[in-house]
Amino acid sequence: MKKTGAQKWQPLEQAVPVDLFLAEVKEWAERLGVAPAEIRIQPMKRKWASCSSRGRLTFDTELLHQPAEFRRGVIVHELLHLKVPNHGRLFRALLRAYLET
Ligand SMILES: [Zn+2]
Repeated sequence: MKKTGAQKWQPLEQAVPVDLFLAEVKEWAERLGVAPAEIRIQPMKRKWASCSSRGRLTFDTELLHQPAEFRRGVIVHELLHLKVPNHGRLFRALLRAYLET
C-alpha cells in the first residue's frame, strides 16, 4: 500500500508495541482466512506495507505510530492481497466490507 501525499500523518506520542501490532495482524489474518508466510516490520520509504508473491508481508515501522483505525486499514488492505493480488472491483468490495464491520 503506497504512501500518498494526501495521507495525513498523525503520529501518536507513544508507539504501540510490536507484539500488539503483530497480534492485530494475526487476528485479521484469521478473520480473513489467510495465512501469511512471514510478517516483517521494517522502515519503508514509499509504502506503508507490501506483499510478496510468496505471501510475505512487510509493514512500515512508522505504522506503530499511527492511530488504530489507520493501522487496521493498512493491515486489512495488505492481508487481502493474499486473496486478491490486485486492486480491482472484488478487492475494493471486500476491503469495504471488512472495514465496515
Ligand atoms: Zn495494495
